[in-house]
Amino acid sequence: MLVVMRAEATPADLDRVVAAIDAMGAEAHRVPGPGRRLALAVTGDMQPAEGAHIVALPAVDEVFWGGATYHLASREWHPEPTRIRLGGGVVIGGEAVVLIAGPCAVETERQLMETAQAAATAGAQLLRGGAYKPRSSPYSFQGLGREGLELLARARRDTGLLIVTEALDTDTVGAVAEIADVIQVGSRNMANFSLLKRVGRTGKPVLLKRGMAATVQELLLAAEYILAEGNPDVILCERGIRGFDGSTRNVFDLAAIPLLHELSHLPVIADPSHGTGRRDLVPAMARAAIAAGADGLMLEVHPEPDLARSDGAQSLPLDALPALVHELRGVAAAVGRQFAAKSGAIPA
Ligand code: PEP
Ligand code: MN
Repeated sequence: MLVVMRAEATPADLDRVVAAIDAMGAEAHRVPGPGRRLALAVTGDMQPAEGAHIVALPAVDEVFWGGATYHLASREWHPEPTRIRLGGGVVIGGEAVVLIAGPCAVETERQLMETAQAAATAGAQLLRGGAYKPRSSPYSFQGLGREGLELLARARRDTGLLIVTEALDTDTVGAVAEIADVIQVGSRNMANFSLLKRVGRTGKPVLLKRGMAATVQELLLAAEYILAEGNPDVILCERGIRGFDGSTRNVFDLAAIPLLHELSHLPVIADPSHGTGRRDLVPAMARAAIAAGADGLMLEVHPEPDLARSDGAQSLPLDALPALVHELRGVAAAVGRQFAAKSGAIPA
């Protein structure tokens, strides 16, 4: 349930509503409401009669019942796009299209530092890399864990790149949140509601990947879980959905990019690496994603893709990055945006 206060409501009015909700055994989370009005997202069981009591309290404007609706993620009440301000002046959802590049998994110090240097030189603003990896097989490389997080922190110190890394479960969210500038919730965890609530309470921006069999509506509802915890910084990520044709790893849903922008104010990042599973297809889908309005790209890159411990087939070699960035700058300019603002190896 969402409670929206009148424009003239005071913090004391809001406190009264919070106390009433508490007394009903539900939990009220303060969230930014439409048009900067005070609002509360209510979690826990509430009966319609209790909702009627809340709407009758002073300074309450409207009460919306949850159902299958994403109130906080919706553009309906929040027409202006959300801009997520990270450290170092990096903004996701602003004029510039951001570049997130890095290996699928952090493997070794050398692999990560080489990749980070190449990504920074090519103009990336963020470095990606999993320390905790969700693998289909329990026998596959599961990531370096804490050691991987420490390497990511070192790469940030050395290059100035901000860090995106995945939180795999509620046990390790705390450790990930200490290091990450942006916490990734992976496709397999998009509907892990305890994890969504937990990352919503970290105070860190969250990059939420679309579940591999999730509808756009389900993605937005998953974002709603994070927003309802009072965390406004959610970045949606289109990474492809399962199709019947094995010739690509996933079906990269390009139309989801403008559709998500239509439905939601949240920024949208595209991941053509997982979207295709094939490095030969990544550049074309990266170009297409920018043309379709993506606010950023997430690209897997590796110094020796054929030796990568995960997702080598879709990882670009480091030396492919400067030319690709050069091309993507042209596409971004054609749709009135900038791309990878730091200077790259090839002059723009
Ligand atoms: C990843 O980013 O390496 C990853 C595991 O992605 P996804 O959750 O989209 O499969
Ligand atoms: Mn990967």
